[in-house]
Amino acid sequence: MSASQSDNKLVVAPESGLNETLVRGFQSRLQAALKDLSAEDHDLRQKLASDEVATEHAVVDGAESALSVESNLEVITQIQHERQEMGDILAALDRITAGEYGLCTECGAPIGEARLSVVPEASHCIDCQEAAERHPGH
Ligand SMILES: [Zn+2]
Repeated sequence: MSASQSDNKLVVAPESGLNETLVRGFQSRLQAALKDLSAEDHDLRQKLASDEVATEHAVVDGAESALSVESNLEVITQIQHERQEMGDILAALDRITAGEYGLCTECGAPIGEARLSVVPEASHCIDCQEAAERHPGH
């Protein structure tokens, strides 16, 4: 057992219909996506920080700086979207080490390899996902 193996610890849930090779593949995709997102997050925050002081005044000063407010809002929206995605990915990586990956967190049904290969961070089976979209906020 080397240290690097324990970093990539994974437990395959037998009910998930997945095997270790598949889960390891999803795990490395999730880790790569997380790395990309945190690099992007860092860039976005730097972009925001450089404009932040100007924005404070822009709100008061009006029209001329409105553009900068708008672009900052865009950056903030992007950051929020990325945070959300990073959260989903981290949760999926946690489920991998906990042996719960590939199972719906709502009903416990297998999410399925086909769906996971499109959305490796999926936490819900397609039925629960659709139900949640039909009843937002439920
Ligand atoms: Zn479900």
